[in-house]
Formats: sequence, structure tokens, C-alpha cells
Amino acid sequence: MGGRVLSVASECVPLVKTGGLADVVGALPAALAAVGWEMRVLLPCYRSLRSLVGGWPVVWEEADLWGGPGRVLSGEVAGVQVLLLDAPHLYDREGGPYSGPNGEHPDNAVRFAALSWTAARIAREGLDGWKPDVLHAHDWQAGLAPAYLAYHGSGGVKSVLTIHNIAFQGWAPAHMLGVLRLPGHAWHPEALEYYGGISTLKAGLVTADWITTVSPTYAAELMRPEFGMGLEGVIAARGASVSGILNGVDTAVWNPGAEDPPFDRKSLAGKAAARAGLCAEFGLEVPGPLAIVVSRLTDQKGIDLLPAVIPDFVLGGGGLIVLGSGDPGLEGAVRKLAARFPGRVGVRIGYDEAMSHRLFAGADVVLVPSRFEPCGLTQMYGLRYGTLPVVSLVGGLADTVIGASPATLAAGVATGVTFHPVDALGFGQALAQVLALHAQPKLWAKLRSNAMAHPVGWETSAAAYAGLYERLCA
Ligand code: ADP
Repeated sequence: MGGRVLSVASECVPLVKTGGLADVVGALPAALAAVGWEMRVLLPCYRSLRSLVGGWPVVWEEADLWGGPGRVLSGEVAGVQVLLLDAPHLYDREGGPYSGPNGEHPDNAVRFAALSWTAARIAREGLDGWKPDVLHAHDWQAGLAPAYLAYHGSGGVKSVLTIHNIAFQGWAPAHMLGVLRLPGHAWHPEALEYYGGISTLKAGLVTADWITTVSPTYAAELMRPEFGMGLEGVIAARGASVSGILNGVDTAVWNPGAEDPPFDRKSLAGKAAARAGLCAEFGLEVPGPLAIVVSRLTDQKGIDLLPAVIPDFVLGGGGLIVLGSGDPGLEGAVRKLAARFPGRVGVRIGYDEAMSHRLFAGADVVLVPSRFEPCGLTQMYGLRYGTLPVVSLVGGLADTVIGASPATLAAGVATGVTFHPVDALGFGQALAQVLALHAQPKLWAKLRSNAMAHPVGWETSAAAYAGLYERLCA
């Protein structure tokens, strides 16, 4: 059937990105267009985007958007129809989307309420004759958009809220209720109230027509206290309207044939050269499997387990390159590993997209020992590049990797190595399995070809979102 969707988020590739959310928001419009759904993306006009909007027409205005005027400008970036909410008093600031030089912006609740308010108004009233059938809100930053539709009138528009990471919940004190244009009657535990205040994510969870998250396993996990981070009861109560849809990756961007040096996905010709280049770049000589980590360095990602498991992996012939930044303690811990094992462990602290491509092209395995992982992207890059994923069995990792076991090896379907529980013993056993598998070249080649045959593009996800929109609008 097809239709129109207004997507509202705080990040969108290639305009602004701090995490996987931006990749999804940026990739969905093209993927959905292929199945008949037209998606426009509403984003705040941060300082970094102001130079872009010079010639863009103003398509919507509001005189008082929490202390100043707001206007929406419409344009196209990299094939995506973008609506930028220009409200300089809220968004024209130094720093990233959420924080400036002095830390988090103290008025973030209002900054993203304004975004959500604008989304709800555009959805309800339409814009220059363009009226969406569905408003699709992402994470806590857009959580109030479904709430505004629910409490101020929906205009017949259906709402979907997608949880990319439950760890961020958008809390504001109770006295903000009126400021955020939310009704007093909704301030109770079954609606907006959350630990004595307001959570904008919870507001979306209780008011959206449908809730999705970015993998089926994470959808189930979120209803349990170990993963729900306080919201498990709210999500379980909405259980009949919750589903998981896996993210895809952009296969034009993550394309072995376009790497430097390129390698062939069928014959793997060129992958050895990529590995050699990588070892030269980091001054490594690794007789066994070369592992990589490309990640935020945080406890969520299980980085703290590396010092316990890497020494045995190195003694067994393996090597490791870590690219990432984050927790200073963890940055120090991986630096220490590199100092302890020169020639076997390399580290680059920082964010470097080009280097991440070289790492996936040249490595043998990618390690993703996350404690929780809503979907995860790097294991999918690994599948596509024949860089076998070694993952903990949580969230989207469990939904995208088939771990080598007697059963999956006999059936010829394994695509990587998996472990659970997420501790040093489990991770260490997984790395021992990597060493053992890597020592059997035929078996390794089979795992690689299985991994590379696993579809990781957006087609399946787009069809699932389209099916959801269609059911909601029917
Ligand atoms: P999360 O969104 O929780 O950080 P994901 O795996 O969903 O985790 O997405 C992380 C994205 O950021 C991936 O595209 C990954 O390659 C990229 N990334 C993370 N750290 C770095 C880094 N230091 N340099 C380059 N890319 C990185």
C-alpha cells in the first residue's frame, strides 16, 4: 500500500552522529522508499548544520517555541528529505547534540520537547499539503512526540516509538510537567510519572501506538529487570504492541570492493593484502588470528574483560587492534595491553571512520563482548567482510550471529563464535575456540563463506517496518 512517515530524531547520518541511532535514521528513508513509503526526517538545526540551510525554504513557523521563535526548513541531503528545526535559542550552541564545553545542556528536556512538539504539530496538521500517515519517533529525545499526539490530538496519525538504547531515558523533575506542555491528569505511575519525575522515554512508551526496538532478542530482554533499566514493567505491560526489527547496514558504504586495497567478496583475493597493510600500520606480527575491537570503550561493551582474556589469546598466537575512545580507565587498560605485548597488540584511541574500514577489511575476527547490545553494527560489518564475529549472546548479537558448535558445524551454518554468560571465563573460552577453529583452515574458510553469505542489508528491515506501518494504518 505505501504511505508517508515523519521520522523524528536527534541524529541522522550524514548530518550529525554520536552512535548507531544516526545510522538507522539516515538509512531508513532510502530503504523504505524502495517499498513504497516516503519518509521525511525532522532534526534540530544544530550549529554545525546552520551553514547548510542558506537557500532552504521555510515551511513551518511557531512564534513561541519555549522562549524564542522556531521555524522548519526543508531540503535534501544525500537523497534524504530533511526538515530542520531552526530555533537558535535552543540549538545554536557550541558542542555536540547533547552537551557543550561545560557538560550536558541543562535545558535538554526543553530542547527535545520542542523537537517533539514540532513533530507532533507537523504530523497532526500536515505541512504544505504533505501529511504523514505515521509519526516515527526515536529514543528519549523524541519520546514526547507520541505523547503530544495522545494528549493534544493525533489528527488520525499513528505513532511508533523505537528504542535504540534503554539506558538513556530523558528524565526531568516533576515541576517541569506544565513547562513541557503535558497535562496534570497524566502524572501518575501508569502514565508519565517516573521515580518522582518525568521520563520522556516512558511518556513515549505509554502513548505510542506501537513500540519497536532494534532486535527481537532485545525486545524480549527489555521486559526483564536485568535489561529494562527500570522500564521493564512499562514495556511488559505494552507487550502486545512491542516488536523487534533488526537494523541493517549500508552495503554501499560497507563494501569490500571499494576498500583500499579492495578485496573480492567471493574469492577473498585482496584480504591478505589488507591484513598485511594493517599489521604494517600497527607494527604487528601475528601468526594466528588477528582480532579487532571498534567500539566505544565502556562497560556496556565489555571492554573491561580484555585485560583478563587477551594474554592467553596472544600466547596462543593471536593479536589484537583496538580502535575506540570513552572511559579513561578503559582507555588506560587497553594502552597497557599494547605496552605489555608490543608487536601483538595495537591501540588507537579516538574515532576514525576510515581506519575502522581498514580494520574490518584486514582482520580475521571482530570482538563484541557486550553486556547488552540493542542491535550492534560491528558484528554485521564483520559478517560482510569475512571478519568472523566473536560475540556475547545478548540482544541483536544473538539474532545475527550463529555460533560455532558441534550442531551448527555439522549443519554447516555457523557464522562466528558466541558465548554466554558475559564474563572473563566465557569470553576466554570463546577466544580459545577462535584459536582452535583458526588452526583448521578448511573449517575457517567455511565459516567465512557462511558469514559473508549472511544478508546484512536494509531490505529485510525495511519490509518489516513497512509491514508494521501498514498494519497500524489498516
Ligand atoms: P553503539 O551505537 O552502542 O555505540 P553500534 O555497534 O550500534 O554501537 O554502533 C557503533 C557505530 O560506531 C559503528 O558504526 C562503529 O563502527 C562506530 N564506531 C564506534 N567507535 C568507533 C571509532 N572509535 N572509530 C570509528 N568508528 C567507530
